[in-house]
Amino acid sequence: MTAMLNSAAADYSDLVEGIAAFVKRKVVPLEDANRELLENPRLAYDEKGGYSAPVLDLFRQVREASAEAGYYAMFAPEELGGAGLGALALFSVWEGLSHLVGPGRPLPDQVIGHWTSGPSFLLGEVDPSLHDSVVQEVMSGAATVCFGMSEPDAGSDAWSMSTRAVHVGDGWVLNGTKQWTSNAAHAKYAFIWAVTDEEMRRERTGGITLFLVPTDTPGFAVDSVLRLFEHVGGNETISSLTDVYIPDTHVVGTLHQGFALALQGVSNGRMYNAGHCVGMARWALEEANRYTGVRTAFGKTIADYQGVSFQLADSAMEIYASKTMSVDCARRLDRGEQARKELNMVKAYTTEACFRVFDRCMQVCGGMGLTNEMRFVSGWHFARMVRIADGTGEVMRRNIANSLRKGDLAF
Ligand SMILES: Cc1cc2nc3c(=O)[nH]c(=O)nc-3n(C[C@H](O)[C@H](O)[C@H](O)COP(=O)(O)OP(=O)(O)OC[C@H]3O[C@@H](n4cnc5c(N)ncnc54)[C@H](O)[C@@H]3O)c2cc1C
Repeated sequence: MTAMLNSAAADYSDLVEGIAAFVKRKVVPLEDANRELLENPRLAYDEKGGYSAPVLDLFRQVREASAEAGYYAMFAPEELGGAGLGALALFSVWEGLSHLVGPGRPLPDQVIGHWTSGPSFLLGEVDPSLHDSVVQEVMSGAATVCFGMSEPDAGSDAWSMSTRAVHVGDGWVLNGTKQWTSNAAHAKYAFIWAVTDEEMRRERTGGITLFLVPTDTPGFAVDSVLRLFEHVGGNETISSLTDVYIPDTHVVGTLHQGFALALQGVSNGRMYNAGHCVGMARWALEEANRYTGVRTAFGKTIADYQGVSFQLADSAMEIYASKTMSVDCARRLDRGEQARKELNMVKAYTTEACFRVFDRCMQVCGGMGLTNEMRFVSGWHFARMVRIADGTGEVMRRNIANSLRKGDLAF
């Protein structure tokens, strides 16, 4: 079944429908029963700015139910009990889920394990001695992880990271600061990238190793939660590692070759972003289409004015282009092509198009478009944020231009 699902000609509509049915059956009742908790930021976040304990408990319930239903770990390797699904599946399920639920609903997002917080290919790189403990906890949804690569002085240029790991006895001692790490305040395990060979790192041939750090290890601390868009809480953090000691078995993958795993993960994240953005943009266009078809001004429905309808048409064109290029890129990746230029184009285009779609949808709905009730603002924040997270639009253009200069002008 997996081989068929991973083939370049695969169609994931049954999987998307299955997830939609799961959301309606298991997640919506939880949302309905906890509306005040989920919608009141003063209850949803604790005093330090992370998610509050009752919200984290709801997240865990959704993860565990989804794992039992077979959805949560679908991108983890088959040998660990996942389904090992590929890029087209990743795009399709996130497009389907985001289209179904729209922005600002954190519970449905827990249904699919995200590579920075849940089961992914990275678990296949974890030492076999940790399979029955760490890996099983993450696969079942009982525990989550986080992904610590960026630092205060190393964002786009992640090679310039300064967190260091030194081999001592049968283990490693880590020192450094990580910034932006999503979910670190709630994760049981942190994937941490650190320099292990300075010369290789300087030459950019390697020298960075990935470590699995239990977040209760002495010396690991979440120093603060970063708040975005004036929210009272958030999911991104600044964490520090002070003489954090972990055994050799906590090296993930190959010594000095951790950067390649980060790139694989970030590539994964770019296809996830594309699915999320296309699905949310579709949701927004449907909402705006409905509203502008009933709202009247100067004796006509506003959709009858070209100034309004052309904004919807422009959005439709961009959604179609976003979806078509994403599916093409995903099929290339599933065929084993690197598709570097294409993936960078997909990440930049879909995130920027999603932002424009939300902006237009807010505009054509007038004052109502700005209300919490219509939920466009939440999607607009998300779209603004993903133009930076997982690689900025400028860095995507830099990468595309590098491919062109190397002679890749194939389309
Ligand atoms: C919401 C959110 C969640 C995140 N989650 C994580 C996470 O879980 N784990 C993690 O490790 N990181 C995470 N990040 C970090 C993210 O990957 C970085 O923010 C991103 O790579 C950009 O780095 P920076 O913010 O330091 O910007 P900088 O690198 O300081 O860039 C600043 C500006 O300079 C531009 N710029 C930089 N280099 C070039 C260039 N060569 N050419 C042209 N322009 C350039 C950028 O495009 C940008 O406009 C997250 C970020 C956000 C916003």
